[in-house]
Amino acid sequence: MKFHKNVNSSVIHKAGWVVIDPYTIVRDGFVHVDSGLIKDIGRGSCSGHIIDHGPGALLPVLVNAHTHLELCALKDKVLPEKGFRNWVENLINLRNSVGTKNLKTGAINGVKELIESGCGVIGEISTLGLTWKIVSNSSLRGVWFREFLGNVLPEEIACNENKLLIKSIAGHAPHTLSPELLADLKNITRKKNIPFSIHLAESEDEIEFLQTGKGKWAEFLSERGIDFSSWNLPVETPVRYLEDLGVLDENTIAVHLIHTDEKDFEILLRHNVRVCLCLRSNFNLHNMLPDLAGMLKAGIKPCLGTDSLASADSLSIFDEMTFVSKSFPSIPPAEILAMATLNGASSLGFGEMFGSLTPGKRAAFVYVPVNVSSRSGLLHALVNADFKGSCKTILQ
Ligand SMILES: [Zn+2]
Repeated sequence: MKFHKNVNSSVIHKAGWVVIDPYTIVRDGFVHVDSGLIKDIGRGSCSGHIIDHGPGALLPVLVNAHTHLELCALKDKVLPEKGFRNWVENLINLRNSVGTKNLKTGAINGVKELIESGCGVIGEISTLGLTWKIVSNSSLRGVWFREFLGNVLPEEIACNENKLLIKSIAGHAPHTLSPELLADLKNITRKKNIPFSIHLAESEDEIEFLQTGKGKWAEFLSERGIDFSSWNLPVETPVRYLEDLGVLDENTIAVHLIHTDEKDFEILLRHNVRVCLCLRSNFNLHNMLPDLAGMLKAGIKPCLGTDSLASADSLSIFDEMTFVSKSFPSIPPAEILAMATLNGASSLGFGEMFGSLTPGKRAAFVYVPVNVSSRSGLLHALVNADFKGSCKTILQ
């Protein structure tokens, strides 16, 4: 369910718990909203126009920093059993055969699913350019990335610096883009100081190709007439390759990072690169997970994405948190919730507007009907339940 309130009104939202951020939680709290912004957070009694949501918790809207709404129509249609290369081939063929109309309908349903599962900020990757209008007509905020791959810089690349929905660029991956095009795309976003996204160190095919210049992916590209002879392969690792190309900085979001080592972590940290993980997709497609515990230990602050419905069962970041929690039981729930809120908002460049319920930020929060008696119980519940059909997303 979604609520749109008059943005000029002053409203007090009450709940049993108010999660300002994963480390600051108020019992019997309220969020005072004025003109679409959080005015203050308080505790106990209050007066004014009060909406009492119940004994559950209000928390910041979740951030899905990496999804592909164009692929929602392919849910349950592309099976990953036969390996990543076959999955990509099947996906491209199916996407072409499904047709634009169905892809758009799927994306509209995807937006609905995102909002109904507590998401308010997204990083949407659009390969065909079909989802800009759909996202900009919705209440979702964040970054819409037009994704490119191949050898040639397209003639027209539109970017904007809209305050609430940025239009930017994603490079698909280092094994599907020439180094020149990759650097050119990054430079366009660098000039505008807006986020740039890239899939990185995801598949064994990518690693084999980058480290040898041969293998299944080399064949895949050759079959499609893509000449990679001038790509300066082999390279040491995908992360070190992008560092050499000058692509790594605080506006670059590196997605997946399954095949990385400690030296890569050091490089990512040194350049303050944003890291986005999509663990359910990684598990379904590659039967592997990134070294999340190692990343946290190194000081990286990853955010979460679901990837598309062609590789994940849902677009819910609650579901993603549950998977992280079950896969890495030693990671504290507060850290997992931070990935889905604070880290996601700052990775997409929206840290001053979203990610926590701090006065001055946008009034964008979600109410979940938990029944708990302690802060630790609350955090555990938040990262271990799907809240399907039971959470309320409030976006202004
Ligand atoms: Zn992706």
